Amino acid sequence: MMALSADFEQMADRVAEIRRKIAKAAAAAGRDPAEVFLCAACKAQTSGTVRFSAALDIDLFGENRMQELREHLKEDAFAGKPCHFIGQLQTNKVRHVVGKAALIHSVDCRRLMDAIQTEASGQKIRQDILFEINLERENSKAGVSEDGLDALLEHTDDCPNLRVRGLMAIPPADYTEDETRRCFARLRELLERAGARRNDRAVLDTLSMGMSGSYEAAVMEGATIVRIGRGIYGERNG
Ligand SMILES: *Cc1c(COP(=O)(O)O)cnc(C)c1O
Repeated sequence: MMALSADFEQMADRVAEIRRKIAKAAAAAGRDPAEVFLCAACKAQTSGTVRFSAALDIDLFGENRMQELREHLKEDAFAGKPCHFIGQLQTNKVRHVVGKAALIHSVDCRRLMDAIQTEASGQKIRQDILFEINLERENSKAGVSEDGLDALLEHTDDCPNLRVRGLMAIPPADYTEDETRRCFARLRELLERAGARRNDRAVLDTLSMGMSGSYEAAVMEGATIVRIGRGIYGERNG
């Protein structure tokens, strides 16, 4: 119990510091910090730790792995806070995620849209999604290229049970602060341009960008969700 409460205090301090930095970055950009949701990226954390962290000043959880999402839901680890799916999603796994994640951040192809559409239709729900953009066209990374975005937006016409809320991106890990910030600016511009297509299947108000090392730059460039893992939970093993 001693160890746990020390851990909790440490996590609470980290979250308070993150909130302060978000507020400062938002103020510098003339934004209201309440526009920025803090997503705790809880991959590789136990249900116990997730449950523990649900009492912190975070808005929602971000899950990368379908198995962990199932486990954490089974254990009621989110304690009523929303959960988003932020990791790569295989088409044959969508049934475990649709209707459970309030927002799926990582949609990057028509095949995945179709699979989510089929499942959401079966469940008679509307599933919110983001398109993940591979800004630097890294071969190893998920995400659609900027050029491919229009085709995905058009495909929403065939997906009445989807609602596109915006865009997500993960800039290359080896980029400098300046390069990373330029990526965030480009994602915002891309969202603004896509916003011309706004209709009932595309309500483009969400920018998911910024992680432990880059969230202040992301907030200055318009992030509405920052996804922070190590900054809250400490370094991961898995
Ligand atoms: C792990 C992860 C994060 C958080 O990364 P940290 O560097 O631990 O803050 C954010 N987004 C996605 C998609 C992730 O997989």
